[in-house]
Amino acid sequence: MTLIAQRTAPQNDGLPRDYRRVRLIEVPKIDVLDDGFVEFVDVMGSDDTICRDARVSTGSDWGSDAENKRLIRYLIRNRHDSPFEQAELKFRVRAPMDVWRQWIRTRTANVVEYSTRYSEAIEAARTTAPNAWRRQAASTRQGSDGFLDEETGAELSRDEATLQRMVRDVYKRRLGLGVAREQARKDLPLSTYTEAVWKIDLRNLLRFLELRLDDAAQFEIREYAKAVASITRELFPKTYRAFADYRLNATTLTRFETDALRDLLAKKGVAFGRGEFDERFAELESESERTEALAKFRRLGLVAE
Ligand SMILES: Cc1cc2nc3c(=O)[nH]c(=O)nc-3n(C[C@H](O)[C@H](O)[C@H](O)COP(=O)(O)OP(=O)(O)OC[C@H]3O[C@@H](n4cnc5c(N)ncnc54)[C@H](O)[C@@H]3O)c2cc1C
Repeated sequence: MTLIAQRTAPQNDGLPRDYRRVRLIEVPKIDVLDDGFVEFVDVMGSDDTICRDARVSTGSDWGSDAENKRLIRYLIRNRHDSPFEQAELKFRVRAPMDVWRQWIRTRTANVVEYSTRYSEAIEAARTTAPNAWRRQAASTRQGSDGFLDEETGAELSRDEATLQRMVRDVYKRRLGLGVAREQARKDLPLSTYTEAVWKIDLRNLLRFLELRLDDAAQFEIREYAKAVASITRELFPKTYRAFADYRLNATTLTRFETDALRDLLAKKGVAFGRGEFDERFAELESESERTEALAKFRRLGLVAE
């Protein structure tokens, strides 16, 4: 559990406007897979400071809670991403090497990693339960689809244990005979855990989450992305909500898809009346969000005027 103070906007409570305010927040360490974790270390910025930084372009300053919510949703919606680079998060993570190899393809982060030249490799390897061996997907070349039966899985899990024990024994024997750590490690499997400190700005963190929370991402890294997402949601609730509404759970249509959908809807004669549209979209946070949604629905021929 990490206790941190996050800078927030002034309130209307008579204190000087420049009074430094913080909110205290406890962030739990999250266990991931069988021996990994995501531990929050530090943060710079908050939803409020992102808005304050964004307002430098108009010469204004802190906004109210409602104004900040609207501004963040506007920035996310319109991909005005640079204000989110003003906030940074730092995590300590422990992940199997195969997950970490995917993780650090996100180049826009700062990383310090455990060294198996300086230290003996972490004595932990990702193991697989008999019911968790996934089948190669037929439809995509990268993914998996369903599971092998448990009897076969039990054999594979036994093989895995034998292999991991043998590799570890060979590694230790090399070290015992005086082989340099940098060379002794060369046959360690990708299941070996590594640890790293990962610092990234919020813009690139959201991009990481968009890619790694997606169903197309491998199960193991998705589990880490979920942990990173839950910490991010805690620290930047307005940003995360807008991100979930406008990126994570949004669907982009290509020109072909848009045309096909418009033709289909016209054929079926399906459209909202204007009143129905307004009612349906009443929950949106601002008039500009409604106006933009209306424009999109009109493009699809989905609003009868
Ligand atoms: C499901 C999935 C499958 C994948 N499969 C493969 C694979 O088979 N092989 C493989 O090699 N990779 C694979 N990747 C990795 C993928 O290609 C990206 O490298 C990775 O997701 C990082 O994305 P990114 O470049 O957007 O992020 P970052 O590296 O963090 O970059 C963020 C953004 O910064 C900008 N940027 C960063 N560096 C540069 C630069 N040099 N020039 C210009 N702009 C830059 C770009 O706008 C970029 O989008 C896969 C990723 C996913 C999610």
